[in-house]
Amino acid sequence: MAKVAVLAGDGIGPEIMAEALKLLDKLGLDFQYAEADVGGAGIDNKGKALPEETVKVCKDSDAILFGAVGGPKWEKLPPEEQPERGALLPLRKMFDLYANLRPARIFPPLASASTLRPDIIEGGLDVLIVRELTSGIYFGDPKGIEEDQGYDMMRYRRGEIERIARVAFESALKRDKKVTSVDKANVLSTMVFWRRVVEDVHREYPKVELEHMYVDNASMQLVRNPRQFDVILAGNMFGDILSDEASMLTGSIGMLPSASLGDGGFGLYEPVHGSAPDIAGKGVANPLAQILSASMMLKYSFNLVEESERIESAVLKVLEDGYRTGDIMGVGCEQVNCSEMGDLVAERL
Ligand code: NAD
Repeated sequence: MAKVAVLAGDGIGPEIMAEALKLLDKLGLDFQYAEADVGGAGIDNKGKALPEETVKVCKDSDAILFGAVGGPKWEKLPPEEQPERGALLPLRKMFDLYANLRPARIFPPLASASTLRPDIIEGGLDVLIVRELTSGIYFGDPKGIEEDQGYDMMRYRRGEIERIARVAFESALKRDKKVTSVDKANVLSTMVFWRRVVEDVHREYPKVELEHMYVDNASMQLVRNPRQFDVILAGNMFGDILSDEASMLTGSIGMLPSASLGDGGFGLYEPVHGSAPDIAGKGVANPLAQILSASMMLKYSFNLVEESERIESAVLKVLEDGYRTGDIMGVGCEQVNCSEMGDLVAERL
């Protein structure tokens, strides 16, 4: 039986998590769920953002479904003890979650929320950014600040590129079978090496088309013609920048899921947004990012591609039928609350 650690966290976390679990229950999967405290809830109940009991629950599980953490109550704590720094970063490190997957998807009924012209995103948009998360210049060694200079070493080792490239190619196999590897091979030696290794890995995936693109061009192409992309593969820094650019093309933070994957199918799945303290407890949060994170979990950790797609189709149908939470409300639509949105998606499964 598959085991899932459920870490709902703070603010709207528990409200949106309840809706994701409602959907998973409805699918009738042979899953066992173990709930545990994290973030502010961990600090209040067990004295730290990532309590030992929670670590144990995660280690005993095949995947982590994460809500959101943080809030004004814990903002005065030292930075490393705060909910986000104290829980998410150690979890990423502990489970070597080196691959960050962020889909930027515009559901056609929400196209008007995008900052792009309607003709550019006509028919919807569905790009997946695969970002290397645990190496590259952000972890540069040496790094330092001196009187008259500052520096960060950019380095990628072969194994680090190979494993993230594999995640990109495997993801493309479950989608439209195209990978765009983003680099700066015209200037940086690290990136000449990156390109070489990505080509080596590509030989294992003859069914997937590979193209290379310089990062400056990629950032331009993302707003000029985003529909040309399927999977974008990038190192830590370029992926950080491009994933924010791409996700904001969709215009609604309450809709964006993410996955952070390690080896062997283990992953942490969470919405891109935070704990939204301004609306917590009111029951009005949009649960779709959390629901779509659960859908990613089915696809990437359990290879339940069909069940994952059933959830996505149900979400699309609810939006086509004109139901909206407040954050994505549009003219002529019917406004619903968090649990009503969960019910509507469940009905359409
Ligand atoms: P936020 O994402 O929580 O909220 C930004 C705005 O978006 C708010 O107006 C909020 O009401 C709205 N919003 C977010 N999610 C929504 C949803 N599902 N439905 C409807 N509206 C939604 O960002 P913030 O206000 O900068 O941060 C609040 C807290 O969350 C902080 O403590 C921050 O540290 C934390 N945070 C946590 C994570 C995480 O858990 N991974 C990520 C980002 C921020």
